[in-house]
Amino acid sequence: MTTDTEARTGRAGRFDPASYEQGWRERWQADALYRADDEDPRQKHYLLTMYPYPSGDLHIGHWYAATGPDIVARMRRMQGLNVMFPMGFDSFGLPTENAAIDRGVDPATWTAANIDQMRAQFRTMGCMFDWSREVVTSDPAYYRWTQWLFGEFFKAGLAYKAMAPVDWCPKDLVVLAREQVEGPNRVCWRCGTPVVKRDLEQWFFRTTRYADELLDFSGIDWPEPIRLMQTNWIGRSEGAEIDFPVEADGVDPIRVFTTRPDTVFGATFMVLAPEHPAVVVLTTPDRRAEVEAYVERARRETEIDRMSAERERSGVFIGPYAVNPMTNERIPIWIADYVLPGYGTGAIMAVPAHDERDYDFARRHELPIRYVVAPTGGEAPAEGAFVEHTSDEVLVDSGEFSGMSAADAIGAIAQQLADLGLGGPAVTYRLRDWLVSRQRYWGAPIPIVYCPEHGAQLVPEAELPVRLPEGVDFAPTGVSPLQSHAEFLRATCPVCGAEARRETDTMDTFVDSSWYFLRYCSPHDELRAWDPEAVKRWMPVDLYTGGAEHAVLHLLYARFFIKALRDIGHLSFDEPFLALRNQGQILGADHQRMSKSRGNVANPDELVARYGSDVVRLFLMFIGPWDQGGPWNASGIEGIHRFLGRVWAQAQPEPGEAVEGSAVPGMPPAQSLAGEPPGSGGPAAGELLGTIEEMSRALRRATHITIRDVGEDYADFHFNTAISKLMELSNAIGKARDTGLAGSAAYGEAIEALLLLLAPAAPHIAEELWSRRGRPYSIHLQAWPTFDAALATADTLELPVQVDGKLRDRLVVTVDTPAEEIERLALASERVQAHLGGRPPRRVVQIPGRLVNIVTSG
Ligand SMILES: [Zn+2]
Ligand SMILES: [Zn+2]
Repeated sequence: MTTDTEARTGRAGRFDPASYEQGWRERWQADALYRADDEDPRQKHYLLTMYPYPSGDLHIGHWYAATGPDIVARMRRMQGLNVMFPMGFDSFGLPTENAAIDRGVDPATWTAANIDQMRAQFRTMGCMFDWSREVVTSDPAYYRWTQWLFGEFFKAGLAYKAMAPVDWCPKDLVVLAREQVEGPNRVCWRCGTPVVKRDLEQWFFRTTRYADELLDFSGIDWPEPIRLMQTNWIGRSEGAEIDFPVEADGVDPIRVFTTRPDTVFGATFMVLAPEHPAVVVLTTPDRRAEVEAYVERARRETEIDRMSAERERSGVFIGPYAVNPMTNERIPIWIADYVLPGYGTGAIMAVPAHDERDYDFARRHELPIRYVVAPTGGEAPAEGAFVEHTSDEVLVDSGEFSGMSAADAIGAIAQQLADLGLGGPAVTYRLRDWLVSRQRYWGAPIPIVYCPEHGAQLVPEAELPVRLPEGVDFAPTGVSPLQSHAEFLRATCPVCGAEARRETDTMDTFVDSSWYFLRYCSPHDELRAWDPEAVKRWMPVDLYTGGAEHAVLHLLYARFFIKALRDIGHLSFDEPFLALRNQGQILGADHQRMSKSRGNVANPDELVARYGSDVVRLFLMFIGPWDQGGPWNASGIEGIHRFLGRVWAQAQPEPGEAVEGSAVPGMPPAQSLAGEPPGSGGPAAGELLGTIEEMSRALRRATHITIRDVGEDYADFHFNTAISKLMELSNAIGKARDTGLAGSAAYGEAIEALLLLLAPAAPHIAEELWSRRGRPYSIHLQAWPTFDAALATADTLELPVQVDGKLRDRLVVTVDTPAEEIERLALASERVQAHLGGRPPRRVVQIPGRLVNIVTSG
């Protein structure tokens, strides 16, 4: 005769994920289990996670980023929603191109190989991605629509070409969008090289048209840090525009923007950026040589050097004077490199008394300093710039405005300027139009041709896609590689049919990612970028997940796209992503960002081979709060492996347990769902452990509390706490088994709840055990368990009180009664006192929620 444990182990076999994980994945795929059906009448739920670059290797960060939303997607599906959870590849752009250059291979070949590799790796994760909707942005079937969208923007006046000083990475030899220049040192987002300025003719998207609307986050549930970063990036500031007439014939006034129009009476000189277009016109002949030399020097400086606070305030007087419109005083016009062409109007009114840099400049160049704001009842300082800008400030030495509070004066002075026709209230933004031209090969060609007669003309829709030619020498040289491809260059003007030259710039890869979520709605539509009905069904995305590093790039651009396409008439909603959650970053064991060059990249494949996919998924979700990430350390993975091993043993069907429709060969025939626990089999349920009914009730409460809490935790992306609650339930199940509860209804309920709750996080083992228990395929098609609120919140419980292991009384206490109070109540019981007979208790042992035992003997 074998023991129960032996029988169970024999039937179950060893916990060996390799024996079933792949098989289940193949079956799910064969059954198209995760295909999102357009015709499904249930409420739609579009859950999206940012698609990766096809870098060639799925690292632990990809697993971390994808497992979280996969858990939520799976739960939502079990909760009855029609979930779409697609995946694709962001395959154009520099990372791929640079990798292809390094290896001397064609980017298309490299991309295709990597996508095959990553798709296979993705599949080992067991995510419920709907691969039938896969989107690959470097596929002509995709980028023809990226080109079509460029055309829609062009026709709407939202895409334009302009000569502009642009940020240029001297290492990558590429123009960068403003959002791709990072940090105070203004370095390239990709390689960290300090950027330099270059004048180039470039294509832009008119993002600034949407500056105000992009500041409005109402109706979307986004993390505050992201909203704040976008708000700061857009950088709306209120103030006034002021025109300063110039004492020179036929010259327009110089317009400045200031947030402090209340200080205009203190403007004692003007400063233009050396690049300001008026400099050439205004400079007097006697100053020209000096001015030109200064301009040349300034252009070679980086912006960060020019803005540095430590720097000496160099500058040159260019000759003419302007007139302060409020004081009518003549003030000299200077140029200085601390004024940048890209900010405001590229010209400032200098108020040295109330601005640090203007003050330094005035001192160095012996220009007048006049205080025009002072604290109420106080005096302006004798020295230094007074920049407090507190609420009790008033204007001094400011004509009719003297004595007015600075806060009131801002509006009053702006209004008077408006009345005088010399400016007025104004708003500026830090946001600039999005520079989309790239002088690189691996991107979607901009669908424009240049006719000598008709200028820039859009390539007709019927001629799309403008295909990226093969066999191009695309080593970066600073000019578009396509310029060397004679056949590509040759085009005809759509207006007159004359020979035209094709645009050779390609689009920023962020253009591709600004609409890929629309393409997922109808990925195979050959006639349109998207099927309007499908987009109406699925969009907006209900929940989007990805890295916070995209705050002012992708996430801002995608919002711009949706608003622009709405106004063009293609869409009827305002925001692409209703809710956003950002995962933290998994760092290398050295606490540094994982990168191949640092050699600190953790490879999931080895772990998956050793432990199976479920263990790796669960471990990643257990290492900490998902939104925080942290350094990689695989040492805890054994604990997760043991946990699933315990679940494996616990969930094997009991002899005589219900196994209706059992899929497991050799199982005994189905019995009724055991209502009563078997009288034998487990260890004797003596008094020490309380009655079976009590244990059963405690297990049911644990089950229903877990159902309630795990659902909430998953929805809140608190996967680590959800997993610890599943572990607690497993512990409770273990204790119930020890008391002979195995095979009871409460036990079966606990096991099945555990499997259903575990299914989103560890989909393979849940499916395997569900099947072994004879439950219908697939666990992932089952309804999410519901909890009995009364059971989950049962506020009182009955505690057996023992003296030396013998039951003497029962206490009824609320579930949140502290242990000290329970001990006090137990000792105070009359029946307990009677059995103690005056002996002092040596110690009081409590099993929380279960029993109290008062020990008197050694
Ligand atoms: Zn770079
Ligand atoms: Zn023409």
